[in-house]
Amino acid sequence: MFSKILIANRGEIALRILRAAKELGIATVAVHSTADADAMHVRLADESVCIGPPLARDSYLNIPNLMAACEITGADAVHPGYGFLSEKARFAEILEAHKIGFIGPSSEHIRIMGDKIEAKQTVKRLGIPVVSGSDDGVTDVKEAKRIGAEIGYPVLIKAAAGGGGRGMKVAKSEDDLEEAFHSARSEARNAFGDDAVYMEKYLEKPRHIEIQVLGDGQGNAVHLGERDCSLQRRHQKVLEEATSPALNDEQRNRIGGLVAKAMAELKYSGVGTIEFLYENGEFYFIEMNTRLQVEHPVTEMITRIDLVNEQIRIASGAELSMKQENIHLSGHAIECRINAEHPRTFAPSPGKITYYHPPGGLGVRVDSGVYAGYSIPPNYDSLIGKLIVHGRNRVECMMRLRRCLDEFVIDGIETTIPLFRDLVDNQDIANGMYDIHWLEKYLANKSADE
Ligand code: ADP
Repeated sequence: MFSKILIANRGEIALRILRAAKELGIATVAVHSTADADAMHVRLADESVCIGPPLARDSYLNIPNLMAACEITGADAVHPGYGFLSEKARFAEILEAHKIGFIGPSSEHIRIMGDKIEAKQTVKRLGIPVVSGSDDGVTDVKEAKRIGAEIGYPVLIKAAAGGGGRGMKVAKSEDDLEEAFHSARSEARNAFGDDAVYMEKYLEKPRHIEIQVLGDGQGNAVHLGERDCSLQRRHQKVLEEATSPALNDEQRNRIGGLVAKAMAELKYSGVGTIEFLYENGEFYFIEMNTRLQVEHPVTEMITRIDLVNEQIRIASGAELSMKQENIHLSGHAIECRINAEHPRTFAPSPGKITYYHPPGGLGVRVDSGVYAGYSIPPNYDSLIGKLIVHGRNRVECMMRLRRCLDEFVIDGIETTIPLFRDLVDNQDIANGMYDIHWLEKYLANKSADE
């Protein structure tokens, strides 16, 4: 087992990792930029190291500074969290070369899944259903037109290096194709420094359903059921739930079993998420994330399995501690992402929190690094916390969520809490009847009414 873990991240996820490490009796090192000197993860860690100025490129993404922090503190493993360096194969490789454990999968698996074209080819070979589209990258408009005619419109042009919903453009018909193609490429070039794009059939009313897996790199893998992340704004998740209101046990076990088998065959190590679009009873793979997800707590609530604990144990060489038959899903969980944003315009709202009162009670979990008196720096993404609620069934979960949202007070800044208060009272949400476009339509109608 590791003796000291350096957490190469910030905010709520740095705290989440710190908690798991402490429970395993492992010492923790926090790293922080100058903008984060007062952050809670820095206060709670056993040691902390400043790794640079506010700009992420110069601090949280600065590999030489992180390596120096490992050297100074004697950390024998690094947990990358999500975002930042969590899916950079090069970082995993450098750590491997310095005999420091990387708490994540092999650099080889990160590389394969980070290229969305190669990822799709790989999982297709392993028997996972994929969205129809170009089997390879598409380099010119002529080829795009040929593929468009073959798969049928509308189509989506997507960045091979994509992430965060960027570099993605829809073409409703061949007339839109040229513009969509060039704009997806230039957005991909700007965002990722790589303009490789591919094409997919654009699904009109799918849900986003993802399967959580856990593998030990020794040929054992299990699935922990699904999360429904269909409530999205600009292709970014806003609220997630487990289990999905759209699936029954038979469908869940079928797709989960398929994914676990594929991951065992791949000898995948650590936690991973296989993302699907789900429409008319069929699953279509879109991508795999080779890291811990923001929404992992809903899975933890219904399985009572600590995913970060498992990640750390597996990275230190342990075998999976469970078999598929030991995993039982119990009740229902919902997560709301609390962002420091205006609840209508979604404009960022950094600044000082003057008063903070989180909800509590049975089945309630708040993962957040903020506190009264804390100033949210303007330099990073706006997620400041997550409210996760569990109930014995979906109705109880929704009732509890409504109660928690009423109780939650964050003063001094704008947050997205009022949006969730509206959503819990909506009939479509209560019925679980929503697809990936539902929230955008709801928000557009709401602003038209005002
Ligand atoms: P990213 O890596 O940028 O998050 P994903 O491939 O995971 O990109 O897709 C993000 C979201 O974009 C999905 O959850 C879904 O809402 C939408 N999307 C992706 N592919 C398609 C598709 N073929 N048809 C319709 N919507 C899609």
